[in-house]
Amino acid sequence: MSCLVCGAQFQAPANLIVHQVLSCNECLSEFEVTDTEPLTLVELPPNEEDWGQ
Ligand SMILES: [Zn+2]
Repeated sequence: MSCLVCGAQFQAPANLIVHQVLSCNECLSEFEVTDTEPLTLVELPPNEEDWGQ
């Protein structure tokens, strides 16, 4: 599969599950698995706002 942001190819883990979070090794963007058949990813926004807690 390829990164939605930078297009880098990366290997998907063997046993993906829905809502699993993957990160790109190249640009460090994070993606959530929304479906596994077929594999569908959505880009997660940077969670900088969580630092306040
Ligand atoms: Zn990337």
